[in-house]
Amino acid sequence: MKVLAVGTGTAVPAEGRSQSCFMFEKDGRKILVDVGMGTLLRLNQLNVDVAEIEAVLLTHNHLDHNGDLLGILKARWLSGVGEKLQIFGPKGTRYHVESLLESYPYLRNKLRFEIQEDLKEFEIAGFEVKSIPTFHSIKSNAYLVDEVLISGDTKPFRELFEIECDLLIHELSLPFGYETQDHTTPESLKKQLEFTKIERIVLTHLYPQTLEVKNEILSFLSDVGSEIRIANDGDVLVV
Ligand SMILES: [Zn+2]
Ligand SMILES: [Zn+2]
Repeated sequence: MKVLAVGTGTAVPAEGRSQSCFMFEKDGRKILVDVGMGTLLRLNQLNVDVAEIEAVLLTHNHLDHNGDLLGILKARWLSGVGEKLQIFGPKGTRYHVESLLESYPYLRNKLRFEIQEDLKEFEIAGFEVKSIPTFHSIKSNAYLVDEVLISGDTKPFRELFEIECDLLIHELSLPFGYETQDHTTPESLKKQLEFTKIERIVLTHLYPQTLEVKNEILSFLSDVGSEIRIANDGDVLVV
């Protein structure tokens, strides 16, 4: 399995970072977790044809995680892709996409997709997927895709860090000193790291003020047992 960091950015621009998207590939089959704005352009830069994507797993319906969904569907329509894009997301995903189509009626009956909401376990494109509800300002899921766990937006919580897997891709939105129940800070992350046996952790979704102190963050986290690094767009995290 290959995991590619397509976009490691947030809702606020930072140099070289497109909004959230990770691609999982196995035996030539590809799925995306989140499709924030910039995904369509980034996939093209990374030589990934949107026609080849079988499914999109949405962690939640915030714009920096789903903003390119209609763009991807439209590109597939105009490229003559016959297969339906399989979309998985938390409860409310179908309503969200339907609402967008109310605003773009010309796309209705053109875009080819199927939505499944709130599935706890499913198989798609040869991947075994489990969804785990997270703590964010709206309904959100983390996904365990085979042996790789991806948090989406959340505060860090023990149940997630106790899952056995090869790699955890976790958000780190905010820098030191923030009190938040919706996102992760270096302090809240470090507290949960004592419960984990996951050896490799890759951090993503750092807001610009967090990126500014990334070296301080990495040294603050350097005494935990896991290997920790910060993802950049285009990184291959698992070969
Ligand atoms: Zn969010
Ligand atoms: Zn976000």
